[in-house]
Amino acid sequence: MVGRAWREGQLPLTWNPIGGSTGLHGASDAITVNFHGVRGSTPCHGEEIMGYGGNTSCVSLDIPGGRPILFDLGTGLRYFGAAHPADEPFRGTCLLTHLHWDHIQGLPFFKPLLHPDADVTVYAPEQEGDLTVAEVFADTIKPPLFPIHFSMFPGDVGFADVANEEFSIGDGVDVMSRLVPHVGNTLGFRVTWQGRSVAYLSDHQMPADGSFDVTPGVLELCADADLVIHDAQYTPEEFVVKSDWGHCTPEFAVYVAARAGAKRLALFHHDPMHHDDMLDLIAEQARRCGDDLGVDVFAARERHSVLV
Ligand SMILES: [Zn+2]
Ligand SMILES: [Zn+2]
Repeated sequence: MVGRAWREGQLPLTWNPIGGSTGLHGASDAITVNFHGVRGSTPCHGEEIMGYGGNTSCVSLDIPGGRPILFDLGTGLRYFGAAHPADEPFRGTCLLTHLHWDHIQGLPFFKPLLHPDADVTVYAPEQEGDLTVAEVFADTIKPPLFPIHFSMFPGDVGFADVANEEFSIGDGVDVMSRLVPHVGNTLGFRVTWQGRSVAYLSDHQMPADGSFDVTPGVLELCADADLVIHDAQYTPEEFVVKSDWGHCTPEFAVYVAARAGAKRLALFHHDPMHHDDMLDLIAEQARRCGDDLGVDVFAARERHSVLV
């Protein structure tokens, strides 16, 4: 059913723009979801990818009256940080899916960390072996890989190692974390505030045989969610040759969202080789597939926002 819908029909190169004004609720009682980086694997640049943007995974959530929440710390984080007032100490939370480069490289370039009163709590997946997440960062952001040691940043970054858990981060925000199939320990998150929910699964390995089995944890994260932000890195043709690289197809992402009863789906973690025209086409195909399955689908774009 899903595969048939995916292949059907003519595919005009149009894109249905999203923005704050298209959300279901007024900004005063809604979560604003801001996309700062939507690429997977590595940042990219060039006229052919400018429409969707070239920065790696970083999404911020604004909750009325609450502190900012970040999904991942990819290169998009630098732009989010640059917009923060320099004289105002940043206080917020990051929900970090995993420690691959494309999800952490923005952290040492996060300007608010230059303020001594900055305070960021990072929830990240427990690591295999003896190292804590804090120890991994301390061992990564240091010479000769980076000019200074991570501990020399004036602001404070605290780490909490989590697995399959539920916890509160204040401001009336509840978080669910679940281990998601990828390469190495990787989490997906679900943020709930006043009955509104956003699920974030940036990197998700679908079954390598191309089947559509979904783990119970993934279904928990996405169940009836208002918005699911989900890996959609490979076309079906690309997946055939990269079937164990940790990712999935847009078709699989639509299936996950539909099976979980989610309302909207943002295709995310775009392959750096996918230029704007190709992503327009992928988005249109996925949107048609979603129409058949009752999910409103769009492809995430850098510098765009949606209301939940
Ligand atoms: Zn990634
Ligand atoms: Zn990864």
